[in-house]
Amino acid sequence: MDEIGKKKTLLVALGGNALIRKGQRGTVDEQFENLKVPIRQLARLSKKYNMIITHGNGPQVGNLLLQQELSRDIPKLPLEILVAQTQGQVGYMIESSLDSELMALGIIHQKPLVSLITYVVVDPDDPAFMSPSKPIGPVYSKEEAARLPFPTRETKKGYRRVVASPRPLTIIEKREISKLIHMGFIVICCGGGGIPVIREGRSFCGVDAVIDKDLASALLAQEVGVDLFIMATDVEGAMVHFGTPRQELLRRLTPAQAEQYLQEGHFPPGSMQPKVEAALQFVRNTSRRAIITSTASIQACVKGTTGTQFVL
Ligand code: ADP
Ligand code: MG
Repeated sequence: MDEIGKKKTLLVALGGNALIRKGQRGTVDEQFENLKVPIRQLARLSKKYNMIITHGNGPQVGNLLLQQELSRDIPKLPLEILVAQTQGQVGYMIESSLDSELMALGIIHQKPLVSLITYVVVDPDDPAFMSPSKPIGPVYSKEEAARLPFPTRETKKGYRRVVASPRPLTIIEKREISKLIHMGFIVICCGGGGIPVIREGRSFCGVDAVIDKDLASALLAQEVGVDLFIMATDVEGAMVHFGTPRQELLRRLTPAQAEQYLQEGHFPPGSMQPKVEAALQFVRNTSRRAIITSTASIQACVKGTTGTQFVL
């Protein structure tokens, strides 16, 4: 087997906070600065591992929606196009940051990079389409919300548009991604959970929905056959009694334990629940390890010393 074939493959899913931290305005300078933390570690890890990088797009797609609201004369773009835009923009930012870090390590020539626009198939009969639940984009007043052409829901911040978040069924580019990995490329893909599409005969078309990036990443990790699946976010890992004085980091979880904590309601939908579900799915289907950790601890978590480690 060649050198690349012998290496293990990591899939690292970067959360939105890898680019924009809570409380920041989210300028491009801030985003590039924040990215250095995970990307420096990924550059080092790429010496030893093949690598797939996926990423969130919550704040980025939210800003694009806000821009659309403010420029009413320009035809509005559907959500699937906005997801594609964020795959391009965040893919570019990750790729160029990684390029600089690989250059600094002197290994740029051994590590070609590529960002892929990625489509993810969903089921048109997914029950999520009947009850859109994922809040996205700007906050509206009650009066504004009543006049909007799409469903909204009252959230802590105010009224927000809600869209369906169907389950991912398969990643269209899985074979291309596998091939690129085996050719030695670092592949950046599945941004924002992928562009949601439904099959129509032999072709497919985009739908107004968003796919959870952790669930899409877990699926890709299984379809490509990665050895280790890492979700990097802004907390040290999954905790019980989160946000209370009894809060405690879970260091090691079997599927049965994770299932129990899920049922007890320790992990809310839309943030920690999909991460734990994604880890569970990967571990159950592959018998390999999945980890939830902070963006600052990616390198350490591979050694098994940080984060929440999911094992059989
Ligand atoms: P990402 O952009 O990385 O996907 P999310 O905001 O979706 O990040 O999920 C991470 C957030 O989940 C943390 O910032 C934390 O506030 C929240 N969270 C909710 N419940 C828990 C829990 N039980 N343990 C850890 N974090 C939790
Ligand atoms: Mg999330």
